[in-house]
Amino acid sequence: MQKCSSVDVNASCEYILVRYGEIGLKGKNRPKFEKRLVGNIRCAVGDLGRINVSKIRGRLMVKVDEVDTSEVIERLGRVFGLVSFSPVLRVDATPEAVFEASLTSMQQGMEREGYSTEESSEPVTFRVTVNRADKTFPIQSMELARQLGGHLLAGIPGLKVKLHQPDLIVSVDIREGQAFVFSQTIPGLGGLPVGVSGKAMLLLSGGIDSPVAGWMSMKRGIELEAIHFHSFPFTGEKSKEKVADLCRVLTRYGGNINLHVAHFTDIQKEIQKKCPEEFRVTIMRRFMYRMAQRLAEHTGALALITGESVGQVASQTLESMVAINEVTLMPVLRPVVGFDKYQIVKIAEQIGTYDISIQPYEDCCTLFLPKHPSTKPNLEKVHTAEESLDIEGLIEAALEKTETLSFYRNEA
Ligand code: ATP
Ligand code: MG
Repeated sequence: MQKCSSVDVNASCEYILVRYGEIGLKGKNRPKFEKRLVGNIRCAVGDLGRINVSKIRGRLMVKVDEVDTSEVIERLGRVFGLVSFSPVLRVDATPEAVFEASLTSMQQGMEREGYSTEESSEPVTFRVTVNRADKTFPIQSMELARQLGGHLLAGIPGLKVKLHQPDLIVSVDIREGQAFVFSQTIPGLGGLPVGVSGKAMLLLSGGIDSPVAGWMSMKRGIELEAIHFHSFPFTGEKSKEKVADLCRVLTRYGGNINLHVAHFTDIQKEIQKKCPEEFRVTIMRRFMYRMAQRLAEHTGALALITGESVGQVASQTLESMVAINEVTLMPVLRPVVGFDKYQIVKIAEQIGTYDISIQPYEDCCTLFLPKHPSTKPNLEKVHTAEESLDIEGLIEAALEKTETLSFYRNEA
């Protein structure tokens, strides 16, 4: 792949202009955001080859050298914190170079969108936008846009200017002696760069909801650590592998994830043996929270994340949440609480976890599910039921058997 320069604008594009930042991101948060975003982009694309990420006044520039730009674009689409990005032609800020680049950019746009350059009955509509941050450029914005429009009309047959909702927009951004010319703006995922908000422990089942809850948390800048409760040999290797696959998908959107596979069988058996049937689900969940909190404290995670919703299943009533939540002082984030199931499914499909989640492997909870779980567990009765259990001993023993698997971004 050739380099773009002031004369050779026909070379394949190798610069991507990145727009970022949330409205309202202020003060000290901004440099932290920028630093983390640059680091995350480097991590996301670094293994592809020679790629340089630099800051240029309120934007980032990704320079792609001898690497397939489409792969870089696909990866940037999975980095939280990006508002949008555009493959650009980078040329010297001279009228001659800008004119030439705008023609190339328009041709690239037409080719990309499948518009024909041959005479056709329907003209391709366009407009030119100019942002002249560098005031030393000799032509003012409005005048430059007008002249570029004329240049494109003269240079490419079948074009027509349309200011409102045209087929294509050719944009010129002139800053600090350089001009960036582009005809494509790809929306980013938005949100905050993973890592700026600290770390939290995701209770990751093999279901549909908890991976989505994890993804939503990452979107708010939270780095994930995950815990899965496994009831070996009642739940087999396949169900563990399924959760590992979910972690692999999640790492594509953020940093690395440590998955703690907690051995839950002995706890479940003990609960089944000693506790009244109606409180078993509640007590089991209380153990999950306790163990998740232990590991969270151990790994520097500040909160727990679950895929719980309200009213979806019997254990997800507010009364039930009160009884379960009682065992931890950590904040419990429940990012999918505001969604209907079909909305959660839609996100799961978009992010790539759905097909994994619907694989039919047993979850530890379904195995020991009582026929009539209490939907409004009484706290006192739950406390009494737990008196027969050696809570500390059970947790210690289970934690000792917990195995940790690490997943890295861009791993095969
Ligand atoms: P999901 O689709 O995430 O499994 P769900 O709708 O099936 O959720 P429940 O089975 O009631 O709901 O689980 C509620 C939450 O408890 C899950 O979203 C998850 O955060 C946590 N959880 C349940 N089972 C496990 C497990 N085996 N390991 C880790 N976390 C679990
Ligand atoms: Mg479940």
